[in-house]
Amino acid sequence: MAGVTIASLHKRFGAVRAVDDVSLDLSPGEFVSLVGPSGCGKTTLMRIVAGLERAEGGTVSIAGRDVTGLRGADRNVAMVFQSYALYPHMTARQNIALPLVMRRLGARQRLPLVGRAWPGTRAALAGIEADVIATAESLGLGHLLDRKPAQLSGGQRQRVALGRAIVRRPDVFLMDEPLSNLDAALRVQTRKEIVDLHRRAGASTIYVTHDQAEALTMSDRVAVMMAGRILQVANPTAVYDDPRDLRVARFIGSPRINTLAAEIGADGLVRVAGQAMGLAASARGAHVYALRPEHLVLAPAPLMQGRGLAARVEHVEFLGEALLVHARLTATGEDVVARIAPEDRNRLPADGVVGFVAAPGRGLLFGADEARVA
Ligand code: ATP
Repeated sequence: MAGVTIASLHKRFGAVRAVDDVSLDLSPGEFVSLVGPSGCGKTTLMRIVAGLERAEGGTVSIAGRDVTGLRGADRNVAMVFQSYALYPHMTARQNIALPLVMRRLGARQRLPLVGRAWPGTRAALAGIEADVIATAESLGLGHLLDRKPAQLSGGQRQRVALGRAIVRRPDVFLMDEPLSNLDAALRVQTRKEIVDLHRRAGASTIYVTHDQAEALTMSDRVAVMMAGRILQVANPTAVYDDPRDLRVARFIGSPRINTLAAEIGADGLVRVAGQAMGLAASARGAHVYALRPEHLVLAPAPLMQGRGLAARVEHVEFLGEALLVHARLTATGEDVVARIAPEDRNRLPADGVVGFVAAPGRGLLFGADEARVA
């Protein structure tokens, strides 16, 4: 099994620093998701690791070997894209077999292979067939091998693309939004298949996604990237509960974390909308107090009046397993969202003004530079 070491990578496009001093270590067999807003540099970073893009500085090592100067084809890395990139004139069997056939054939024979349907298919496939069938079976594609991509559903096509990546037994999988063309139910199912597959294959995986649920459920660690830099790499629980940076706190979690203006006085108490929030800090002055919606809880009934953060309820969304209460703090006009249990709906008072308190130990405090303070 091979680990990956990405050290101080830099890549600019004109004035845009697409990848700005990025370092990331994957242990052998580790699954790391790369998340971040559109344009933050995820795809560029993947393309550099794959050898499809040249970095201006920094190195990529796989299994302890510096591969920075090697062509993609010589890195034993397999990439899976959102767009599947299957050859439409080839069957699923031929698409999956292609990397093995390419490996077997000399460079001169490769070119015509891509341009038109297989010359010498039978001979080339003879020793490869068993691998292709085993891979297809593991993906539930065994009965579909003779179909062409146009005769397959989106999910089946993506599985063929995965099969083509797996069959090579690469050291590293690079997956760039592989599920984003699938509908919600199929995404959930395929996400489990990818995790199972990853476990079986044992290759290190970097997985780019826009979907936080995917990142949080699938990964050993999540790397949060913004404006070309990785802000935090940590296990999913830590990225969610213990963000080191306000931008990470805001990016991870849906609905977004509540962020409120906070003031720390000489007594060291953190005050939000004039209320002490049960959090102390050594710093002074203006800060940002952040609290996840599920940690903004209705004050117990006797405290409702005059205790906690008073807020006027704007509207309530029913999610099935929870209610989202959208409210506005009466003291400051700041908007908040609280996630409460559906059975607590009858605790929302008729006049629409509620008191919220923070779940103990859950408030996060950030300084003016967005770094975590407490
Ligand atoms: P998305 O989530 O939308 O796919 P991303 O995080 O993958 O975005 P990249 O595609 O890596 O982001 O792009 C990073 C930045 O580099 C963007 O500002 C993009 O416009 C720019 N960029 C990427 N490729 C090129 C290119 N070939 N030429 C010029 N600029 C580019």
